[in-house]
Amino acid sequence: MPILLSHPASLEHDPRRFIPGHPDTPERIVAIEAALAERDWLGWERRQAPAASEGWVEAVHSERLLREVRQLCEAGGGLIDPDTAVVPESLRAARHAAGGACELARALLAGEHEVGLSACRPSGHHAEPDRAMGFCLFGNVAIAAALARRELGAERVLILDWDVHHGNGTEACFVNRPDVLVVSIHQMPLYPGTGAASERGTGAGEGFTVNLPVPPGSGEAEWLGLIDEVVAPTAERYDPDLVLVSAGFDAHRADPLAGCELETASFAAMARRVRAIARDAGAPLGLVLEGGYHVPSLVESLIATMEAVAE
Ligand SMILES: [Zn+2]
Repeated sequence: MPILLSHPASLEHDPRRFIPGHPDTPERIVAIEAALAERDWLGWERRQAPAASEGWVEAVHSERLLREVRQLCEAGGGLIDPDTAVVPESLRAARHAAGGACELARALLAGEHEVGLSACRPSGHHAEPDRAMGFCLFGNVAIAAALARRELGAERVLILDWDVHHGNGTEACFVNRPDVLVVSIHQMPLYPGTGAASERGTGAGEGFTVNLPVPPGSGEAEWLGLIDEVVAPTAERYDPDLVLVSAGFDAHRADPLAGCELETASFAAMARRVRAIARDAGAPLGLVLEGGYHVPSLVESLIATMEAVAE
């Protein structure tokens, strides 16, 4: 039975208090949970996401970043950048979002589950070691991958980021490390502007960053083609002990923030392939929620993904 991590603190982080009309709303999670509750949670085991300790957060982030977020929350909240705001409750939400990804990695590597999802907010893949940005405070997937390496016995972790935006934060956390392979499929040009195919990692990490930009208008043929022709053989060579997916759903054709053309069923098709990639490597598969801003499409696509990975 797969595992689902969530936490009510995800509903308390609302950037609209400082940025009216902000697309990352608590209603995203409310809608996901209502749809899952209607479907009896698809039979998944539910667990509350623990709060990540400061030590976990500092596995990839600077103490300065943690202090900046804490101080801004304690001061009543405010802007971190023009797209990113915190309210007093945001530190708590971010610690549980990171902790959900960490608990997911722990449960998977302990052999308690083969598949799972952490569905918390705020998302994390834009958060760099020393900088929160792009709706993201802490790098949830990156923290979980670092913890998997440091404390949970994994030797090689594969992160596939299929959010439509480049996972610059995750990349920055592991750019010079071969023990976490970061593969990102994303639209280019698009925020944050990084993620060219020529970015391949540095030093000992050279070749362990794989960027697969696609042009606006790309649909299922392009995205599935990259999974089959690049991600699957790369994963087979790498032989990971754990596969984590930065699962954003903003490459959906209905999403207002980007111009890709995936359908709801395209996410199920990607998820089925990624499940097969993990299974072939003998590795468990953990999904961590990132973006997705057209709420009905987000809900449908996430549920289709959950059903596909549980097959
Ligand atoms: Zn995104």
